Amino acid sequence: MKIIVLLGAPGSGKGTQAKRLATTSGVVHFSTGDALRASIQEGTVVGKRAQVFMEKGELVPDSIMIELVTQTLAGVGGETKLLLDGFPRTLPQAIALDHNLETKVDQAIYFKMEKEELVKRLTGRRICEQCAEPFHIVFVPPRVEGRCDRCRGGLVQRTDDTESVVRQRLSVFATQNDSLLNYYNGSNRLIELDASLSIEVIHHQLLETI
Ligand code: AMP
Repeated sequence: MKIIVLLGAPGSGKGTQAKRLATTSGVVHFSTGDALRASIQEGTVVGKRAQVFMEKGELVPDSIMIELVTQTLAGVGGETKLLLDGFPRTLPQAIALDHNLETKVDQAIYFKMEKEELVKRLTGRRICEQCAEPFHIVFVPPRVEGRCDRCRGGLVQRTDDTESVVRQRLSVFATQNDSLLNYYNGSNRLIELDASLSIEVIHHQLLETI
């Protein structure tokens, strides 16, 4: 298994790019945020514990996250190229990821973006409630207002994409990010990209990188 981690603030486009790469180039995309939201919908124990933190824009404790990711990745086949989106978010998570599995992280790709640009992106984001396709009221508007272009499902705002929760999520990100960048940079695994470029340009940069 080849593991590539996507680092960057919420709203920097990691999920959009990972979903696209998964459909065009056969890599496997695993998003811890999506996995937690699915657990909440299913009413699992992990979901119930995580929900309290997520609604406040705080991080779910490392112990829960490390167990969730270790269990999920233990079942992934040897030939898989895996894009991890939203994990690791703390240094203990990064260290556990390198030590708990047979494979270490191969590359870390950092999606770099200014804070106020992130606020604009996140608060305008809308997600299809049926297929999870992301849109943006200004930057990626749907053809029909409030409806998904792909499946016609209704578009909703995530409860943690309101401005006050967004600002909390971004400040949590800022406290953890430097230690993660140093960790991967120190082992020559860090690649940085300008996340304010277009979806198309970044997609091609990623195709060349991974
Ligand atoms: P995301 O969809 O990646 O923005 O994640 C949504 C929320 O899920 C975050 O604000 C956290 O509360 C939680 N979460 C997702 N991944 C992690 C992680 N690796 N560590 C801690 N909390 C996480």
